[in-house]
Order: sequence, then C-alpha cells, then structure tokens
Amino acid sequence: MKLLIAGGQVVTADGSTDADVLVDDGRVAWVGRVPGADADADRVIDARGKLVMPGAVDMHTHLEAPNNEIREAAIDALTCDDYHDGSIAAIVGGTTTLVDFATQNPGDGLIDSLEQCRAKLAARPLATDIGLHMIVADLGVPGAEAELAALCDEGVTSFKLFMAYKESPLMIDDDTLFRVAQVAAANDAVVVVHAESGDAINVLQRQAVAAGDTAAIWHARTRPPATEAEAVNRAIELCRVAGAALYIMHVSSAEALAVIERAKRGGARVRAETCTHYLYVDESWLERPPEEACKFVFTPPPRSADDREALWDALARGVLDVVSTDHCPYTLEQKRGGAHSFMATPNGVPGVENRLEVMFELGVRGGRLSPSRLVELLCTEPARLYGMHPSKGTLSPGADGDVVIFDPAAERTLSVDSQISTADFCVFEGLRVSGSVDTVVRGGQVVVENREYLADPGLGGFLARQRSAQAFRIGQPTEA
Ligand SMILES: [Zn+2]
Repeated sequence: MKLLIAGGQVVTADGSTDADVLVDDGRVAWVGRVPGADADADRVIDARGKLVMPGAVDMHTHLEAPNNEIREAAIDALTCDDYHDGSIAAIVGGTTTLVDFATQNPGDGLIDSLEQCRAKLAARPLATDIGLHMIVADLGVPGAEAELAALCDEGVTSFKLFMAYKESPLMIDDDTLFRVAQVAAANDAVVVVHAESGDAINVLQRQAVAAGDTAAIWHARTRPPATEAEAVNRAIELCRVAGAALYIMHVSSAEALAVIERAKRGGARVRAETCTHYLYVDESWLERPPEEACKFVFTPPPRSADDREALWDALARGVLDVVSTDHCPYTLEQKRGGAHSFMATPNGVPGVENRLEVMFELGVRGGRLSPSRLVELLCTEPARLYGMHPSKGTLSPGADGDVVIFDPAAERTLSVDSQISTADFCVFEGLRVSGSVDTVVRGGQVVVENREYLADPGLGGFLARQRSAQAFRIGQPTEA
C-alpha cells in the first residue's frame, strides 16, 4: 500500500518545507518531490494548504490508573479512560504513540508488576502503540535491583519515582531514589521524577486541615513553588552523583525552572517537561465554587499567571524540552465526590486529545513557538528521550508511517460536547482554536478523518523502547 500525501508543508524539528510524503508498506519511503509519484500511489491525499507533521508522542498518561493519592473509599479508584478509550482520544487528537505507567505496589515484584500491566494492555483493543514507564515504589523486595535491569531488556527503560504523596504507598525516600538512579546509570535507563517535597507538603496539608482550610485553593497553598524547586534540585543533585539521566515531569513554576536552567548550564544530564494545562489554567481557577474548582485540582497545582509566562519562555528557550499532557481523567462524579476537601479530590485532568490543537493555538498562533519547535516539543524530543527515535517523532525515510495532516485554517471550539475521552468535562472548554487535526495516518493507514476513528480498534500494542540515557547529552547549552 503506497500512500502519497501531496502538496502540503512538511514540518519537522529541523524546519518546514513544501514537499510530498510517500508512505510505503507502513513506513516513510521519502519526503520530497518525485515526478509521477501520484500515478504510482494506491491513494493520494491532497494536503495543499495543510501542515504535514509526524504523529505526536505523549509520554505521560495515566489510563485505567489507580488513584494512589486519595485514601477515601467513596471515590471510584480508577481514572475513567481505559487503555482503549485513551488510545482513541489520543489518536483523534493527532497523538499516535503513548507511554503510560506500570505500577509496582510495595511488596510486589517489578517483573510481576510489568506482566500484570501488559496483560491488561493486551486485553484492550488499542488504537495507538503504548510503551510503559515503571513506577518503582519498593526496592526492599528480593532481587529488585536485578529486576530493574531486566526491565530494560523488556523495553521498559525508564523508572518513575514519586517524591510526593506521603500518605500513598508510592512515595519513595532518598535512599530509594539514589539506588534506582545508580541502577539506571548502569543500564542506560532514565530516572523520571514527580518532584515535590512530600514530607513538607504533608505537614502543610495536616496544618491546613486542622485549621479548617479545605477549599480547593489550599491544594495550591499547601504545595508552594519552593517545594517543587527543592525536590527538583534534590533529584538533579542525587542523579548527578549517581551518573544517571534525569527527566522531570510536569514542571509548573518559575522557581523550579530556575533550578533546571542552572543545572543544564552546569552540564547536568537533565531534561524537563511541562503539561498543556499549566499553560492555560492558573491558580485563581481554584477559587471558583467548589463543584467547579475541583475540576482543576491537579498536581503540582496550577500556579500564577507569571509562572505560566515563565513556562512559555522556557519552552521557547530550550529550558523545557517536552510538552506532555499528564492525561489523568476523572468524571465529574469522581471529582465532585471529593469536592468538599482538597484532600479528597482526585488529582488530575483529561487532555490527551487537546494537546496539538491547544499548543498550535496558544503557542504557534500566539507567536511563542515556531511550527518546527512545536513538532520538536510534541513529537521529536519525547521520542528521542524515551528510546523511540527515529522510528517515532520524525518523518525521515524509514520512520514509522505515523503522520498528522493538520489544517491551520480549520476552526473549532474545544468543548466536552465534542470530547472523545470519557471524562465529562474539558479543561479548555470554550477555547476557540484556529487549526485542527484533519487526517491521521498510523503505520501507513488512514485511521482518523473528520475527528472520527475509522480503523480496526486493535491496531496498536505494547511498544518496547530502546535504552535512551545517551540522548541526555551532557552540557547541551540552552538557547540564549
Ligand atoms: Zn502524571
């Protein structure tokens, strides 16, 4: 099957060029202009006036994930999109590859935990490929360090550590962080952190609750930016001692950015992301009435408008490397079941389907990012840093035939009414975007047209990733 995408503007991390793309037998065959190519193709898509980009990669989602930070039994424990739902929402929004999480609960073996997660993945028809990070909670189980090394052979080449959520089983101490970093360094794996000072936050939370301060805004007030900056700094320094490559998830504050920028300039092997919602929502949204404010309880919390501007600046200058979604969807019923106290509200928001359109509108239309920087942040860097490049995240010959045709002239309004995720609210409700996903090709097959998934729902599967610590080069300077 030869698919020719003709007449569009091809956008990669290296720049934009008017070119055709031929996808043959599931892979990109060439990018350029070949006379007569249309006569030779089985199907020709007219992409004139449109942007042709690599399928986007979101390496931070939580599908059918247990709610680990809340202890109240009244709340349904899982995020509301299962792997199937999430993969459909992702691909309709232009994201053709996901990396989600397998979770080790304390006492469980790491390989066992991976196998359980892979069994769940195998039970769902997936529209995208899904790789897995391993959430490591307990190095006390026999053979844990050898099993961490073995995970890399299984294609699970990144270890996620929670430095927060003191009352959950997942928060680790510095001993565990450092030992995992040593194992990662020895195996060219990547350490991934949720960086917040879990102990200090827990004290602030208990004091707030004792004082009767349980409104949603206290979710932010008990997690001040310095608690993020402190943990970011600690993770950077401990990984530096261990010689490990470090990736910091969901950076939200100017204080944390300053730590990251200094470390990068000093040669630390650190990369960092922010998530779409931090570029749109700010802390004042938590002061809305409880049934509204509870929607925007996510962690780290939304910050000030100044922090939001600092994040945009960091994306443009290369202090931040990736934009992901941290798609962690709950229904309004789940959210409002915990609206009486910030301590009971499930943490997280949907967004896996919105990232490309929101970032094009706010970033490219907003004059903050070039189209090629957008592709770098959403496609190329996540693929490179997580061992999926060059098959994912680019359109060079030999790459997987995962292509998004994006119509910069198409307008639509983001709303729960047209949302694919089973979450029944939209973070970007009412946001008018100029630029929308037109067609999505996965593995050389047209799978999405007119925001509808058309193909067999079981095309995707578990994606084994390469070891990728080498992608975290030492001393990459940030742009001035
Ligand atoms: Zn997350």
